[in-house]
Amino acid sequence: MIVSGRTLVADTVLEHDVVVVGTGAGGSMATRELARAGKSVIAVEEGGDHTPADFDQREDTMLPILFQDRGGRMTTDLAITVLQGRGVGGSTIHNTNLCKRAPDAILDLWTQRHGVVGCKPSDLAPVFAEVERDLSVSTIPDDAINKNNDALRRGLAALGWRGGALSHNRVGCMRSGFCELGCAYDAKQNARKVLLPEAMARGATVLSDTKVLRILHDGRRVSGVLAQTVTGKLVRIKARAVVLSASATGSAALALVSGVPDPFDQIGRGLRIHPGGAVAGVFDDAVDGWQGIPQSWECTEHLDFAEGSDKRVWITTAFAHPIGTASLMPGFGADHMRAMRLYRRMAVLTAMVHDETEGRVTASPEGKPRIAYAMEPRDRAQLARGLRAGAEILLAAGAKEVHVPAVRPLIVRNKKDLAAIDLDFARPHSVPLTAVHPMGTMRMGEDRRRSVVDSRGRHHHLAGLFVADGSLFPTSLGGPPQISVYTLARHLARHVADSVR
Ligand SMILES: Cc1cc2nc3c(=O)[nH]c(=O)nc-3n(C[C@H](O)[C@H](O)[C@H](O)COP(=O)(O)OP(=O)(O)OC[C@H]3O[C@@H](n4cnc5c(N)ncnc54)[C@H](O)[C@@H]3O)c2cc1C
Ligand code: SF4
Repeated sequence: MIVSGRTLVADTVLEHDVVVVGTGAGGSMATRELARAGKSVIAVEEGGDHTPADFDQREDTMLPILFQDRGGRMTTDLAITVLQGRGVGGSTIHNTNLCKRAPDAILDLWTQRHGVVGCKPSDLAPVFAEVERDLSVSTIPDDAINKNNDALRRGLAALGWRGGALSHNRVGCMRSGFCELGCAYDAKQNARKVLLPEAMARGATVLSDTKVLRILHDGRRVSGVLAQTVTGKLVRIKARAVVLSASATGSAALALVSGVPDPFDQIGRGLRIHPGGAVAGVFDDAVDGWQGIPQSWECTEHLDFAEGSDKRVWITTAFAHPIGTASLMPGFGADHMRAMRLYRRMAVLTAMVHDETEGRVTASPEGKPRIAYAMEPRDRAQLARGLRAGAEILLAAGAKEVHVPAVRPLIVRNKKDLAAIDLDFARPHSVPLTAVHPMGTMRMGEDRRRSVVDSRGRHHHLAGLFVADGSLFPTSLGGPPQISVYTLARHLARHVADSVR
């Protein structure tokens, strides 16, 4: 049963074997696995429970409801917008449903360089397969490639660059294009739809509209959490284990504000975000990129996974709804209107950097995440490479001009113009950047000096504390993370269950 904290009329004390903080990809999976293991489990979610009937396909109403900070979360220097979900199902409610396993090269890197045990490609392959079955993952069919994605496909074919069709977790998709505002047709196989019903049928409780304020502990072992409903009622939940699944920003901030022991100053460090910039090609004919499945094709020509590689950009499509587009398009007044008049004829790509910059999450005194991220020159060079490549793809697909939003906006009409996208151009505060994949901050590994939890997700220094979300990743993935978050949560949940035998 999903219980809203709004229904509590007084301060309350509850007792469970395990409390899970957050109900996104990691939290929902951990909750279901713990319920399957017969544990008494409660998942506490700060946001509300929103269902397809609530999704009105409007940016002005849905962004404030479904996203952290009403869609306005940013790095502390205001250079990068960081989009993250808030509500039952977390970021899986409004994500764009791309499904890709963590590359073998990344899992090998974690094993060889980051002291992670038990997560080699061969260890996780069966778990990935189970998760993909759970989420009904399939390749996006050819007839669902919309014109925006077709521009990417045509551009790659013309250039002879690597790329291909993506996979997704949708069933019964009406191809309406509103995925990022919540699916009114309930076609997304998200965490709320796929995992929580079974968890609740097995006895789990989901408490929404309730924020966990503190992890309760005596410095050696956890004893539960203290939470507060949106109406101000305090909820103390006694538990033998606490699972942090509040995302790479939320979990680290909660651990920090709770004074979780951290002798090697590791909590919150190692943040990666896949910062991305956009390019918009203008075609003669209408593209109407808002119609159909938003992202279905990728370019992997400029992506490999070796540390320090000079090919670290993943390029895919990124059509935005009108308000999002208007906020990115350069100019004011008549200039801006002229740019927006091109909306129907635009195809938009994003270049996301498989980043090596290590950002840091800290917590305000109230426990709110603060995200510090100063993009290093080697990653800026990758951003420049990605923007140039994106513009080249669009030109090859037949775009007459490519707009590169920036403080000094650039219009690219031929290959010669691409040289203007250099290291200076591709810098935060010059190019508008968005990040939708926060990772790291509570990294896994066996070396206590370089990680926060061990390879079973157990905190190194506080018994009973576990992590099961995107904060576990020791490095960036270089692609969509949700399948890997679900998989790690599923893989590690048995250790939480074993701890409360
Ligand atoms: C616009 C967008 C598009 C995306 N598209 C894709 C895609 O196509 N494919 C893909 O693989 N990934 C995509 N992602 C990323 C993917 O959704 C996330 O990587 C994944 O959901 C992360 O899982 P998580 O469990 O770490 O966190 P989340 O899913 O973000 O869940 C964390 C939850 O914890 C809650 N919480 C935080 N703090 C507290 C607290 N103190 N108390 C209680 N609850 C708390 C939050 O409200 C939230 O519900 C996208 C993300 C965005 C924003
Ligand atoms: S495109 Fe498909 S999954 Fe996305 S909102 Fe429309 S029906 Fe739902």
